[in-house]
Amino acid sequence: MALIVQKYGGTSVADATRVRDVAERVLYTQQKGNQMVIVVSAPAGKTDELLALARGVAKHPNPREVDMLLATGEQISIALLAMASADLGGKAISLTAAQVGIKTDGTHQKAKITEISLKRIKEELEKGQVVIVAGFQGIDEKHDYTTLGRGGSDTSAVALAAALNADMCEIYTDVDGVYTADPRLVPNAKKHDEISYDEMLEMASLGAKVLHLRAVELAKKYNVPLHVRSSFNENPGTVVKGGENMEQGRIVVGVAHNSKISKLTIARIADKPGVAAMIFSKLAAADINVDMIVQSAGKDGLADISFTVSKDDADRAEEVARSMVEVLSAESVERDDNQAKVSIVGTGMLTNPGVAAAMFETLAQNNINIEMISTSDISISTVIPGELVEKAVQALHSAFELDK
Ligand code: ADP
Ligand code: ASP
Ligand code: MG
Repeated sequence: MALIVQKYGGTSVADATRVRDVAERVLYTQQKGNQMVIVVSAPAGKTDELLALARGVAKHPNPREVDMLLATGEQISIALLAMASADLGGKAISLTAAQVGIKTDGTHQKAKITEISLKRIKEELEKGQVVIVAGFQGIDEKHDYTTLGRGGSDTSAVALAAALNADMCEIYTDVDGVYTADPRLVPNAKKHDEISYDEMLEMASLGAKVLHLRAVELAKKYNVPLHVRSSFNENPGTVVKGGENMEQGRIVVGVAHNSKISKLTIARIADKPGVAAMIFSKLAAADINVDMIVQSAGKDGLADISFTVSKDDADRAEEVARSMVEVLSAESVERDDNQAKVSIVGTGMLTNPGVAAAMFETLAQNNINIEMISTSDISISTVIPGELVEKAVQALHSAFELDK
């Protein structure tokens, strides 16, 4: 008997038919003699809908109350899936994070799981129940609801799989696996049979939302192999696991993009020690993650500092930047929401010079201006005008022969 954790995303539980499909799939696997723990997301679109409700009543809704609201989305899915399972003759019980005991720190909307209590889940499994757990949510020390960040149900599933020492962790979604690029942008993208944790980490952190970044971090840390596959068919998906570049000879394994970024520029500030430290410690104190940073060459003792943040944080980042204009004697703060980050990823880059040049050349040939650049050991990222993202991803995908 194996213990299997399966996670179903929003599109997999979007309506009654889909929920019943999932229930059938789960019961079928249970009937083959397995213990099943199922993690589900809110129905597709529900979390956005709830966020819109919050913004409808308050300009800056209280983060604690936002989590109270968002947690209801996943609660819809667990209850419906348990009902559908029972209707199909199965035994299933739904549990919220509070009922399970999924503890997190108290950072609302970006909480990290600190501890999972297994008592209730194990008791229910012993009774032969399919245990259906609400993804994305946790409870903090005060027993207040928290959420793990958008896409966080993947992380709930991996954390449960690690804590339960599960034999398998399957992530069911609306694509057949991890592709060389987002198949919605690149129709001839190819599915990977396998991808390493490190490459998947890089892809996820650079915008490939097929897996939540924290889920991949946990999977790597606790060595939980993930099988990413579709809930719409029986095709084998992509296995994410340890090891080096598995597709030998391939320098680049994927192109990732992120259109949800904003660029802020603090123009003409004093080019002297301590200025950058001040700006970025203020942003950090406001819990804003800064991604890329570029400082222009100083001229006449003045320089510009540009940085990118997630679009969700752009309003607050702009406020922080504006609050510093006077102390920094800066000229202005400029904001550009029409930006995108396009990246190439592959461990093969470590040993192959010339990859960056090839990337920049491809963008140049396509008349795409690069506004910012950053690199890691296994990736190169560029910030480009937002409307060119599709063109850039497609051009890079074929330049690095990922369609072959
Ligand atoms: P779920 O609701 O099941 O968690 P998500 O929408 O979070 O699903 O993630 C699946 C989506 O990720 C796909 O529909 C696809 O558009 C997108 N995606 C982005 N990059 C990739 C990639 N490299 N491979 C597969 N899917 C990707
Ligand atoms: N429902 C949450 C979201 O839309 C979590 C998830 O889908 O993983 O972000
Ligand atoms: Mg997701």
